[in-house]
Amino acid sequence: MNEAKSSLLGLLPAELDTLVGEFGAPRYRADQVLHAAYRELAGGFEEMRLLPAGLRKELGERLTLSPAREVRRVVSDDGLTTKLLLEMPDGTLIETVLMEYPPSRAGGRRRSTVCVSTQAGCAMGCVFCATGQMGFERNLGAGEIVAQVVHLARLLRARGEHVTNVVFMGMGEPLANYAATMRAVRILTDPRAFGLGQRHVTISTVGVIRGIDRLAEEGLQVGLAISLHAPNDALRRRLVPTAGPHSVRELMAAAKRYFERTGRRVTFEYALIAGENDSDETARELVRLVRGSGAHVNLIPVNPTAGGFRRPSRQRVLAFERILREGGVNCTVRVEKGTEISAACGQLRTDAAAEVIGEGEVEVMEGAFARPSARAKRPLSPAPSQSR
Ligand code: SF4
Repeated sequence: MNEAKSSLLGLLPAELDTLVGEFGAPRYRADQVLHAAYRELAGGFEEMRLLPAGLRKELGERLTLSPAREVRRVVSDDGLTTKLLLEMPDGTLIETVLMEYPPSRAGGRRRSTVCVSTQAGCAMGCVFCATGQMGFERNLGAGEIVAQVVHLARLLRARGEHVTNVVFMGMGEPLANYAATMRAVRILTDPRAFGLGQRHVTISTVGVIRGIDRLAEEGLQVGLAISLHAPNDALRRRLVPTAGPHSVRELMAAAKRYFERTGRRVTFEYALIAGENDSDETARELVRLVRGSGAHVNLIPVNPTAGGFRRPSRQRVLAFERILREGGVNCTVRVEKGTEISAACGQLRTDAAAEVIGEGEVEVMEGAFARPSARAKRPLSPAPSQSR
């Protein structure tokens, strides 16, 4: 793969119009390219047989259509969750997840949701998150974000299915990579490009208030999920150290502004951690904070392997949920039985963080908080199914 080439998947349709024009071709050729890239999911320009050979060649010299290489695939036992480790042209590794919901669980229609990463690593440092503990590597470009969706769309197409939703909840803080995230959203939702409905896109943030306010002004109808995790500042700053400058109240005010500006209900993600933020008193505090805001709370029992943090018992989770419901707060619990996998911001990182260190070999970090020195080399083989 040529690193110097930019990705077609990172171009807005209008930019492709201009590029095709520079090659002396009419605008309808750009439509043909977009159709081939996003409807037929072509893997290369040589597959675009409708285009003149000269234009195919020129495009192929300037652009790539497959900037992500699949290094590893892990499928849950029930077949509904697929995690991919993708390698970018510079060797950067990121994780992308496909979550499938059969009609019975999705209100009458099948849902195939792709969870994309927006950064390699993350600077936010949430203490229960494997990605956060790995630190920040780099921002992803829009083409690298869109490539994750296109890669899984190709995989789904082989089964006669398609991507119905995209959530920006993988590695990284989307609003800390604002320009690339917005560009990716526009490409994914442009009818001439990937063509997903804006309401089928959700952006998750740990609470970048300036980013939330900017997003509210974009004129988009995308959903917003805020990783709250605690109803007061002291607890939140312990769990999300980078939340420091922003109080929970400021976050609530930003969520309210987003709702008022877009009409879209905000979801609060709440990772339930045994002994940390799962007490009855904390639940009541959460009720006082959220009640009346119209927001929805998503309770996510945390991954039990995350560095000493434990998932609360089923009983405790249900008790917490009951207090919220009785307090008038809309909430749901992401329950995982066996191989079901939840999708909170950054929690999609597998607890076997794999790093390619040579051909046919990966370095597997067992446990979300194992230090690099504790890593053990293993032969490349499917990772055990994750259960969160
Ligand atoms: S939970 Fe999200 S924001 Fe927090 S460290 Fe993990 S990836 Fe970053």
